[in-house]
Amino acid sequence: MARHSITVTAYHADGTVCPSEHRHTTGGSPLTEGCTGRERFLATCSCKQWTSGPSSTKTYAAEQGRRHRSDQLPAKFAPPSKGPAALRKLLRFDAED
Ligand SMILES: [Zn+2]
Ligand SMILES: [Zn+2]
Repeated sequence: MARHSITVTAYHADGTVCPSEHRHTTGGSPLTEGCTGRERFLATCSCKQWTSGPSSTKTYAAEQGRRHRSDQLPAKFAPPSKGPAALRKLLRFDAED
C-alpha cells in the first residue's frame, strides 16, 4: 500500500528551491544571503502521484496535502462499524476488573 507522507517545499521566485536552512523573519523577509524570499509553496506526496498547486503560504500547502491524504484513504482503513462496540466491551471489561 502506498504511504501518503506530505512534504511542503518552498520555492524562490525564480523557481529554485528555498531550503529550510534559509532563514526568514516572521514577516517572510529573507535573512539568508542569496535568498530572494519564499515566493510559493508546493506540497508533494510520497506516493509520487500527487502535487499540490502553488500556494502562497506553507499552511495552505500543508492543508492541501492533508486533504489529498484523506481523499486517498481507502475505505478499509475507516474505523469498522463494530469498533466502538468493541471498545465499549473493553471498557466494561476494565470496569469489572
Ligand atoms: Zn499520496
Ligand atoms: Zn531561500
